[in-house]
Amino acid sequence: MQKENYSIAIHGGAGTILRNEMTAEKELAYKEALTAAILAGENILKQRGTALDAVEAAIISLENNPLFNAGKGAVFTHDETHEMDASIMRGDNLMAGAVAGIKNIKNPIQLSRKVMENSEHVMLCGEGAATFAKKMGFEFTPDSYFYTEQRHAQWQNAVAENKIALDHNIKTDEKKFGTVGAVALDMHGNLAAGTSTGGMTNKQFGRVGDSPIIGAGTYANNAQCAISCTGHGEFFIKAVVAYDVFCLMEYKQLSLEEACRIVVKEKLVKIGGEGGLIAVDKFGNISLCFNSDGMYRASVAMHQELLVAIYKD
Ligand code: ASP
Repeated sequence: MQKENYSIAIHGGAGTILRNEMTAEKELAYKEALTAAILAGENILKQRGTALDAVEAAIISLENNPLFNAGKGAVFTHDETHEMDASIMRGDNLMAGAVAGIKNIKNPIQLSRKVMENSEHVMLCGEGAATFAKKMGFEFTPDSYFYTEQRHAQWQNAVAENKIALDHNIKTDEKKFGTVGAVALDMHGNLAAGTSTGGMTNKQFGRVGDSPIIGAGTYANNAQCAISCTGHGEFFIKAVVAYDVFCLMEYKQLSLEEACRIVVKEKLVKIGGEGGLIAVDKFGNISLCFNSDGMYRASVAMHQELLVAIYKD
């Protein structure tokens, strides 16, 4: 019989995250936020809770923190609004839920879970998702809640430069992807994955990235692994990143680490897709893999100490 185990990993986005551009204060704030989020998930796993609940709790914690591009702190669309995407999936029965282009929902990950559990569908978008949210008793949070000065300044820059930027900071060539995600294995042997994002700064309204797309930004299947991605969504959709990692393990019997390396550091790089992913396999192995300068990330497991990291080295 397999040894009892649990594992959890989270990300808060990847991109051009350079040590020399970070203040000690900011670095600490990111690390504290990542620690709080992963502990929220780990506490559930420790008490024999489900991977699904752990993933949701970790993501809610990140959505509530304005440092990340999800929930509060989501980036602005070209029209100065916030349109958010999220998805969640469980590995035991492949049930999945996703929302795209939603507005005024404080925790989009919770709405995606409701889609999974209380609708006949996998993905709801725009007005239909809003009507469903109302039916499920969600409150609509005013626009002012999602506003942050930093994101607004980024939006103004992007509009001035006439560029669609990816959660960029200061200049559009300094790319950052602040999407959040979590993956977990629970003590019952079940995997789950979830991802939540505001998308890209100055994106056209209606644009949907990889985060709510099952198989692209999020995937979980007890047969192998659970994955959550962050990066330039269009490339992650084209490369079907999360499912590709699963397939390399399933059909080629690659290890989690090797499958992630091939997809992120070879296949994505070849097509110009910047970003990364977090993954956990059915044995509890964890991979935090990215081809950018950094990725806000954390992981912990029953038999593995807490790791919180930002930069490549
Ligand atoms: N993948 C997200 C998107 O394209 C962006 C991010 O990871 O920050 O919408």
